[in-house]
Amino acid sequence: MALFETEALILRTYNLAEADKIVVCLTRSAGLMRGVAKGCRKLRNRFGAALEPFTLINLTYYEKEHQELVSFRQVEILKSRFNLSSNASVLTGFAYMGDLLIDFSPPHQANDNLYRMALACFEAVSENPEDLDSVLRYFEVWLLKLEGFLPDLRTCANCHEAFSGDAAVYLWTDLSLRCMRCSSGKGGTVSKKLHAQLRMTEKLSPSMFAEEAREVPKTTKLEMAELTFQIIGRVLERRPRVKPAT
Ligand SMILES: [Zn+2]
Repeated sequence: MALFETEALILRTYNLAEADKIVVCLTRSAGLMRGVAKGCRKLRNRFGAALEPFTLINLTYYEKEHQELVSFRQVEILKSRFNLSSNASVLTGFAYMGDLLIDFSPPHQANDNLYRMALACFEAVSENPEDLDSVLRYFEVWLLKLEGFLPDLRTCANCHEAFSGDAAVYLWTDLSLRCMRCSSGKGGTVSKKLHAQLRMTEKLSPSMFAEEAREVPKTTKLEMAELTFQIIGRVLERRPRVKPAT
C-alpha cells in the first residue's frame, strides 16, 4: 500500500454506510480520483469540514494496487467555498462543471492543463459570481478543446484554408467548422461575433474572458451557449444541461 500527496478539488461526495463518504475529486497529480473518507461523518473526525464539494484541499491518500477506490488519510483545506454556500446559482454552476469533469476525465490520468483550467474557472466564479455564465462558456470551450472535441477554430475542416476575418464560417452537420465554399451555403452560420468570442477563449484567462464578455451582446452569448450545448450533447450522447433560453 503506497502513500501519496496531491492538491485536489472536490467535485462530489456520497454518503457511504453510517459514517463514511465517497469523495470524487480532480487531483493535480493523478487526475480524476474516487476515494473513501472513513469516519468523516462522525462528530469528531480528522477531516473536519474539509470534504465539502468544491473545496480545494491538500490530500494524503493510500492506494492499493488494482483498486480504483483510494483511501483518504489526511486532508487540509487550501480554499473553502463556504462564503458561496448560500448562492444557489453558483452552486448549480459548480456542480455542472464538476459533472462535466467527471464525465470527460478518464480516472487516474493526470492532466495538468485540465486541472489548472478547471481551478482557474472555479476561482474566477468565486471572485466574481456575477460572471458565472461567461465562465461556464469558457470552461465548456476549454474542456472540449483539452479533450479533443472542439472543432478547429482557425481553418476550414474540409479545405484547411485559414478563416479570414471577414468571411463567413459555417457549422457543418458533424459540428466541424467550414468555409462558405465547402459548406455550399448549408449548415448554420457562426456569427462573426461568436467566432471572435471562441477565439478569445484561446487568448485569455477565464476571469479576463468574463470581464470582456460583459460588453458582448446577449444574442452572441446565447449563440455560444447553443453551440457548446450541441457539441457537449453530441459527445455525451445526452442532454448536458438545461438548454439555454432563446
Ligand atoms: Zn473550406
